[in-house]
Amino acid sequence: MARLESMTSSDASAVVDELRMLFRSGVTKPVEWRRTQLTGLRKLLSEQADVFLKALYADLRKNTAEAKRAEIALVRNEIDHTLENLDSWLSPEPAGLPYPLRPADGRVVREPLGVALIIGPWNYPLQLVLAPLVGALAAGNCAVVKPSELSPNTSAAIAEHLPNYVEGVRVVEGAVPETTALLEQKFDTIFYTGNGTVGRIVMAAAAKHLTPVTLELGGKSPAIVEPGADLAMTAQRLAYGKFANAGQTCVAPDYVLAIGDTGPKLAEHLAETVKAMFGDDPATSESYGRIISTRHHDRLTALLDNGTVVVGGQADRDEKYIAPTVLTDVSPDAPVMRDEIFGPILPIIDVPDVDAALEFVNERDKPLALYAFTESEETKRRIETETSSGGLVFGAAIIHLVAPELPFGGVGESGMGRYHGRYSIENFSHVKAVLDKPLAG
Ligand code: NAD
Repeated sequence: MARLESMTSSDASAVVDELRMLFRSGVTKPVEWRRTQLTGLRKLLSEQADVFLKALYADLRKNTAEAKRAEIALVRNEIDHTLENLDSWLSPEPAGLPYPLRPADGRVVREPLGVALIIGPWNYPLQLVLAPLVGALAAGNCAVVKPSELSPNTSAAIAEHLPNYVEGVRVVEGAVPETTALLEQKFDTIFYTGNGTVGRIVMAAAAKHLTPVTLELGGKSPAIVEPGADLAMTAQRLAYGKFANAGQTCVAPDYVLAIGDTGPKLAEHLAETVKAMFGDDPATSESYGRIISTRHHDRLTALLDNGTVVVGGQADRDEKYIAPTVLTDVSPDAPVMRDEIFGPILPIIDVPDVDAALEFVNERDKPLALYAFTESEETKRRIETETSSGGLVFGAAIIHLVAPELPFGGVGESGMGRYHGRYSIENFSHVKAVLDKPLAG
């Protein structure tokens, strides 16, 4: 399949028509076809791993260990989990029927929607295109894939290699004009990962065709820290979640709400942890990433003076480098607390008690993830029942997204819909009611 660039609306229409014809031929429906595509994706990840690792390094200076874990192994696990469970997820479910309808059989079946559009972001540019694609293909759909233009090396690698390993998928490279041309077409479902502003554009375009959308968005994901928690361990887990990919992770802890006197002590532990992870000068560490663009670099540099720097604070525009930075004495009204930071800056806000922390969370947009570090079962119960977020993790950060049995998605401003594992099948299927009543009887 050819690589497509500079796409116009009629080019986009031709791509969708071709896939729709393929879908209507029925070829994608048998489970065997779906298994073949998933096996193809698995082969792509092993045979082209080096190509992808180089591209990810070029785009984000993503180190090999992190790229293998977050971009390749995560998708491979998703594929394996799906291959293992696909038959049972797809088997029709018998449904009971009320007495007046009998004799009759009821069942629930999952049918593919048709042609999906998957629009990916730049921060995990391979994972966030392929993980939804696993679900789209496993559910028996065709798909158009549009990787982010801000990670051009990974986008080019996907366009060059993906079509050699799977059928029923077309890759369109490009930026706003190409995405706009695609969004004018009628798809059967659109899966968008990125920011809420573009999420609204996607949803408005989808509304014209009554196309269902999944929006995997972001926002500010808080981490609550309560006295009594092991602060050294909390610092390690927070730093891992925050500084992986130089903070450019949708579920990175955005800021800390430090209850009581935990703030200063946690800040010290974070400073030690940063040194242990990246050495005295993280600029020279091979395991520390870079900011995607000078635009984002400038945006982040302007936030570095929004509090007292406990560790970090350095920036190098030419290198698109920002040191892992922890800030204390941050005002809740400071610019760093307005929008999602999406970079390696961790502000700590002091709050007096759990009530204040819950109020702080609840008076803002519903986050994609909420983290809490506490030994109190009562606090855990309160956080679980008194807040709303895409996901909730106690005692760690960002790791929930690697569990294929947990749904991944946001709520409110952090998105709509969910995927991973069987939730991907649900997302890319129509769940159809079938009732079969004998004519005689
Ligand atoms: P991005 O700039 O790469 O944009 C994402 C996609 O939208 C790209 O493919 C791009 O071509 C397309 N796009 C951009 N402008 C457009 C327009 N005007 N019309 C149509 N399409 C357009 O990525 P981003 O949005 O900067 O990504 C960062 C955001 O994504 C953060 O908010 C982050 O939290 C969120 N995110 C969420 C998840 C998740 O799984 N929920 C994962 C990663 C990132």
